[in-house]
Amino acid sequence: MNEVVRAELSVVVIGAGPVGLAAAAHLLERGLEPLVLEQGADAGAAVRAWGHVRLFSPWRYDVDGAARRLLETHGWTVPAADDLPTGSDLVDRYLAPLAATPEIAPRLRTGTRVVGVTRDGADKTRSLGRERRAYRVRTVGPDGQVEDLLARAVVDASGTWGRSNPLGTGGLPAVGEEDAARFLAGPLPDVLGRGRTRFAGAHTLVVGMGHSAANTLLSLVELSETAPGTRVSWAIRGGSARRLFGGGTDDELPARGLLGTRLRDAVDAGRLTLVRWTSIERLVPGERTVRVLGTSRDDALDLDVDVIVDATGFRPDLDMLREVRLDLDPALECPRALAELIDPNQHSCGTVPPHGETLLAHPDAGFYLVGMKSYGRAPTFLLATGYEQVRSIAAALAGDRVAADLVQLDLPATGVCSTDLGADNGAGGDGVEGAACCGSAAPEPELVTIGFATGVAHGRAGDAARGDG
Ligand SMILES: Cc1cc2nc3c(=O)[nH]c(=O)nc-3n(C[C@H](O)[C@H](O)[C@H](O)COP(=O)(O)OP(=O)(O)OC[C@H]3O[C@@H](n4cnc5c(N)ncnc54)[C@H](O)[C@@H]3O)c2cc1C
Repeated sequence: MNEVVRAELSVVVIGAGPVGLAAAAHLLERGLEPLVLEQGADAGAAVRAWGHVRLFSPWRYDVDGAARRLLETHGWTVPAADDLPTGSDLVDRYLAPLAATPEIAPRLRTGTRVVGVTRDGADKTRSLGRERRAYRVRTVGPDGQVEDLLARAVVDASGTWGRSNPLGTGGLPAVGEEDAARFLAGPLPDVLGRGRTRFAGAHTLVVGMGHSAANTLLSLVELSETAPGTRVSWAIRGGSARRLFGGGTDDELPARGLLGTRLRDAVDAGRLTLVRWTSIERLVPGERTVRVLGTSRDDALDLDVDVIVDATGFRPDLDMLREVRLDLDPALECPRALAELIDPNQHSCGTVPPHGETLLAHPDAGFYLVGMKSYGRAPTFLLATGYEQVRSIAAALAGDRVAADLVQLDLPATGVCSTDLGADNGAGGDGVEGAACCGSAAPEPELVTIGFATGVAHGRAGDAARGDG
């Protein structure tokens, strides 16, 4: 059955994370009908997985405007603006109440995984009348039942959590990586909580250059104070960790600046071993430990460790979008026009010009990638950016072009950018020069800052792309 797009069809939102739920709130405000599909048992399933981690953004940046308005009609009070929630706080105090509102609850299906999206009755190659066809969204429900849903538009807010980059430097898994899976702890294990027994007294290798790596490293260092024999090694691809050390007190998000400062202090104090210029080529699982083989600069790398924390960043799941006509950047796998604003080869400071529906549109009209997934493989996504994306998209779907184009955001700056690092960027001098980053790269008409300046710019481009922001 070929369906012509009908106004009464729902806008399907994939994922009930912070940005998917915000999309639902904005669509409802616009009088549109959202249907949110979430693979987890509850809303905020991905955030719950890293619930033990404290966000560096205080509440003032973590709550979407439309979501807040909706919640307040049910007596909700916003948490103190300057407090820093953990991931679990974000779910318990914000996402769960939002999902439970009488407006969203009946429009949310949990335990429902989207496995494919297409134009109804038209595969990717078919052009004739394509734009008049509804979207067909294939889902697998809690009992494994397959159901297709029709939608007038699709907002993919499914994030990138759960799709970690492999350890192999070239983007392919290291040889033996699958066989060594039992030694991999994932990007953000709960080192001081549930995972404590695994890490206490063990030698852990953390791989990566993002905030996930930083969080885990600091937890491991803390653990080593009370658990004798705990050893920590940290492998990075570049020659300097300066990008992750950040802008310190220049960072407009103090918690993010402090994270980098504490990590730098731990490295300087010799409380962990930093292995630079690392290229992991092979993992050889043994009985109790795994051997990590490769190179470190010109030397051979040969480490025997108990656990590997693969904090190598994330990549989007594009398999389910195989039949949708997307316009993606070939490097970052994000909407093409967004790439130049967030490319870690150029940007690291967390600032990005505001962008909305126009920039996020694809050849298949009415399909959008938003939230974490909209950044593809780029690491610096922030919630406030996603909230503005979905506000603009909801306005456009409602036909309010003026509101859709009036994109604005104000995100705190990190205080350091690639441009500040110059040649000392961990890449041996291949850093971008001053004028290339941040505001200067922004399109002229939209020079409203929406990044949190970290106070420092990125180091080696490749590391930035592997980081997790
Ligand atoms: C440890 C950590 C700390 C962070 N700290 C901050 C911070 O301080 N400030 C900040 O602004 N940002 C922070 N971020 C970045 C970002 O804001 C978060 O990752 C945020 O959760 C992204 O929201 P999202 O809604 O785009 O995606 P997610 O939160 O990942 O939500 C996506 C949802 O989609 C579901 N899903 C996935 N695939 C499917 C499918 N096929 N079908 C149905 N459902 C699906 C998932 O289960 C999940 O619930 C942090 C990220 C991490 C990992």
